[in-house]
Amino acid sequence: MGCQNTATEQHHPHQPLEFAHTSLLEVLRDGYPGPFLLMDSAVVRDRARQFHSALPNIAPHFAVKANPDLRILKALRAEGVSFEIASRQELELLLPLGVAPADIFFSNPVKPREHIAAAAAAGVEWFAIDSIEELRKVHSIKPDAKLYLRIFTSNEGSVCPLSGKFGAHPAEIRDILAAATALQADLAGVTFHVGSQCTNIDNWRIGIRAAHDVLQQFSAAGLTPQLLDLGGGFPVRLGDPVPDITDIAKVIREELDAIEMPLRLIAEPGRFLVAEAGCLVTSAVGTTLRNNERWLYLDAGFYSGLMELKDGIPYILDTERNGRPVPWTIAGPTCDSIDVCFKGYLLPDNLAEGDLIYVRSAGAYSSACSTRFNGFPSPEVLVI
Ligand SMILES: *Cc1c(COP(=O)(O)O)cnc(C)c1O
Repeated sequence: MGCQNTATEQHHPHQPLEFAHTSLLEVLRDGYPGPFLLMDSAVVRDRARQFHSALPNIAPHFAVKANPDLRILKALRAEGVSFEIASRQELELLLPLGVAPADIFFSNPVKPREHIAAAAAAGVEWFAIDSIEELRKVHSIKPDAKLYLRIFTSNEGSVCPLSGKFGAHPAEIRDILAAATALQADLAGVTFHVGSQCTNIDNWRIGIRAAHDVLQQFSAAGLTPQLLDLGGGFPVRLGDPVPDITDIAKVIREELDAIEMPLRLIAEPGRFLVAEAGCLVTSAVGTTLRNNERWLYLDAGFYSGLMELKDGIPYILDTERNGRPVPWTIAGPTCDSIDVCFKGYLLPDNLAEGDLIYVRSAGAYSSACSTRFNGFPSPEVLVI
């Protein structure tokens, strides 16, 4: 697990600590408060604008799971972004913000029955399915639900593949269409997910073509296609080069131009809207040289903010020290052996207890996936 950083891979998309520098100083004025995730809502709003301008005809629906902080949800809403949810609890975050339920997409393909009922009662209309069983389940609770079918698609070249868990395959799609027609269910849309932090632009081409093919099967089966949902996966700049949103948008537009049906077009960016807005600030609990290997123990790790290391997300770390860069093994504070976060990461040789380490672009799936394992706190989320 974790990622192997080498000297050549380690490059900084920003100047060190240019991010929210004055706010950091302010937070740290009275001393280090323990690990925290500093979110800059101006960056969140900027990414929403970038998305709107690259893909003006595609309505972004933020995947709440990436960062469910209310202040972030509000900032996105102020930029005209709507939402995608996986659970009743995520829906309950959105309703007090005044988000129109009919504009919230329940994209979890396999949902607890009570969550479907709660969403239906609140006015949610769109529900994802990827099996006959889920089609029947949603239909039994809400016969007039608008359903969209999650199809299997290529996740090759995505840092965090998602297609292993969800997505109907061609033979199943035929059966689902037949079941929908027999039930007179309103199966009206198709969705796919290219995989999170997708660096392979072809995945969108492949996904849209497959979705178009399935929508044509809808028409042939007597259903009325209304929705194409491009899912998430839009990548952010971390330690490795990634395609720009404008390059991805070009491919998406080319493919959409080939579709003649009048469709509502949405996407579900998660990481893209929030990752670069966040910096996880953590401190060195201890350092040591053990068997010729330099170890750095931080007060945040796999269980408290960096769980995405399991997929090899190439985080960028910064420090204010400027000693000679040498390879470090970097671990979190817990006593579990999975809590070794980086091996061979180049950082200054003079790091010492109490030094702060800044994890860049950590605004997605960090605090959202943190636990209190071994008693160590989750990073507090501070929003500026
Ligand atoms: C997680 C998820 C997303 C967001 O994915 P990102 O890679 O963060 O953009 C979108 N849609 C669904 C259904 C998801 O599960």
